[in-house]
Amino acid sequence: MLYQGLIERYRKYLPVSAKTPVVSLCEGNTPLIHSKVLSGVTGLKVYLKYEGLNPTGSFKDRGMTMAISKAKEKGVEIVACASTGNTSASAAAYAARCGMKSVVLIPNGNIALGKLAQAMIHGAKVLAVEGNFDDALNLVKEITEKYPIELVNSINPFRIEGQKTAAFEICDSLGDAPVFHAIPVGNAGNITAYWKGYTEYFQNKKSKTLPRMLGFQAAGAAPIVINKPVKDPQTLATAIKIGNPASWKLALAARDDSKGLIDSVTDKEIIAAYKLLASEGVFVEPASAASVAGVIKLNTQGYFKKQKNVPLVCTLTGHGLKDPNIAIANVSKPIIVKPQIKEIIKKIGF
Ligand SMILES: *Cc1c(COP(=O)(O)O)cnc(C)c1O
Repeated sequence: MLYQGLIERYRKYLPVSAKTPVVSLCEGNTPLIHSKVLSGVTGLKVYLKYEGLNPTGSFKDRGMTMAISKAKEKGVEIVACASTGNTSASAAAYAARCGMKSVVLIPNGNIALGKLAQAMIHGAKVLAVEGNFDDALNLVKEITEKYPIELVNSINPFRIEGQKTAAFEICDSLGDAPVFHAIPVGNAGNITAYWKGYTEYFQNKKSKTLPRMLGFQAAGAAPIVINKPVKDPQTLATAIKIGNPASWKLALAARDDSKGLIDSVTDKEIIAAYKLLASEGVFVEPASAASVAGVIKLNTQGYFKKQKNVPLVCTLTGHGLKDPNIAIANVSKPIIVKPQIKEIIKKIGF
């Protein structure tokens, strides 16, 4: 039978009924790719959960299929979100899918080109706020409280419900939960969702163990690590450029209940991890590489010393094509040549 998306696959574990109109683009079912390079570096069995292969190119689609389906069930006509880019791309696509209107508030000048293109082509009303993500989120919260518009940021509990299915897929693929799970942390909805997913699967006896959750923020936007909000967050990883995460407390619970940690990685470490992944054929956006940068950092500190060959999963949250400017800025430029075989052969190195 054709794959019909994560709501159909995991219906039993989700707050949907026969009456819920399922709005899906066949999200989920993303590959878990074994990383030879990272396994070699760490001595662990490292797998990459490549969420860039969702319909709009990020894990946000997992939450959006649920949030939009439930909004449709309620009779909602307009949805809104604040976004560093991927939430708006996803909200716009899923709203378009079911004939709803969408409004997205983005921090002006601070979102990757691919994401902006997506929101626009799917017909969202795109409002570029002269402020940062945290400002945009505060505004959209207030607006959706006062007007008949549904909020589809990850404080919408249905988002978390959809996103938890990534943990189910990992357990189903590996036969159990991994020993470690590394993940980038921005607004902290996804670390919350994974922990919820792992916990529910464990309680339902679908897995025998629980992983340690390893969350990573960008050093210039690491409120959870420094234990206070960051007024003016700075990082090139725009998807995690967030100074006051909405799911802060839940992220702490995931960290502590799983005996894990939340640490930070510098932009330099993020770009090194980003290039390392690309060298193995996996193209992600910079924020996604934070999980891998974190694993490399912990490995250097000896964190995995006593763990040989155990499974570690890194969530790679979004596709590299979202943010082509960063890729181009970090590699050498194409060589311009005349249309002549002789010159081309010479440039190739013969
Ligand atoms: C949204 C997003 C994140 C951060 O996820 P949170 O749930 O906000 O912590 C990380 N990477 C990418 C690519 C994202 O789109």
